[in-house]
Amino acid sequence: MPFEEILGQERAKRVLTRALAQNKMPHAYLFYGAEGLGRFKTALALAEVLMCKQGEGDACGECSTCKRVAGEKHPDLIVVRPESRKGTKEWIIDPDLGTIRIEQIREFQRWISVRSFEGGWKIGIFLGADKMNQAASNALLKTLEEPPPSSLLVLVSPTRGQLLPTIVSRCQPVHFAPLPPEDLEAFLSERLELAEEELPLVSALSGGCPGKALKMDPEWVTEVRREWLDRLRAFLVSGPQAELTGFAEELVQSEHLLDVLDLYESWYRDLLVSRTDQPERIINRDYMEEIAEASEEQEPKETVYRIEAIRRARRDFLGPFHLNRHSVMEGLLLKLSGYI
Ligand SMILES: [Zn+2]
Repeated sequence: MPFEEILGQERAKRVLTRALAQNKMPHAYLFYGAEGLGRFKTALALAEVLMCKQGEGDACGECSTCKRVAGEKHPDLIVVRPESRKGTKEWIIDPDLGTIRIEQIREFQRWISVRSFEGGWKIGIFLGADKMNQAASNALLKTLEEPPPSSLLVLVSPTRGQLLPTIVSRCQPVHFAPLPPEDLEAFLSERLELAEEELPLVSALSGGCPGKALKMDPEWVTEVRREWLDRLRAFLVSGPQAELTGFAEELVQSEHLLDVLDLYESWYRDLLVSRTDQPERIINRDYMEEIAEASEEQEPKETVYRIEAIRRARRDFLGPFHLNRHSVMEGLLLKLSGYI
């Protein structure tokens, strides 16, 4: 896919096209920003433009080189993804719970140390670079310190802070920003069959990320999300004595658990936003009144405490320590109800 087909991200594209025009490719880029903003698409577009022999200043998007890059079938391109081994012997791709292991980095290093098959660039894209464990990070650092000629690494991560500072300092950072609501709504109105009044809600729920918005299940937006929000609100009214164990178990069993945690974080974030003079930044805008009410009943520092508790619970779930999920959830719910 050529750069010009990537939605928004003008700044990121400018940084890259300038480096291409001046023939000043760094050895490594760090593409950071939320999921669904086109970081991976842009990494592939960069690989295409470097390898395509037809286009000028941008990839043609149509030659066999471009097509093989887009399909991840080019021998001079490798995409490294987090993997996990869930009860099986084989490692399988797992973007949410997986890690990038030192074995994957070693395999990549063997590959990149060999001359390019087609005489041009060799490009490695690391999706979920924040999921590299310590050993993998240290191994990759060696390649970043002494990159083979004509090699390019693109690390893709939600933030810079989740990577080792020594890794970040050896990559040129390129930030991917959320799309302005009006741009995203215009884009979505052409692609999704949504009622006009739902466009701002979907746009806000996606955090300005077109990829996320396109994947959003309409049933989640209009029904499931509301059920989980109402469930939380009812729990906060009734208090944990009656419902703690039941609610915690419902959460643990839910296929939407991580989405629900994101949702609850967005709820508390909305409570803080509703105290500012920018209520248009509220995400759950179908709950405006409830949000205004709840935010009056809670001190901002208590709200911040709850947001931190949710983030902590998410880390405990995704982390390597296999904590008991039910107790993590019970702990979180006690914090949300102000008991601890
Ligand atoms: Zn091409």
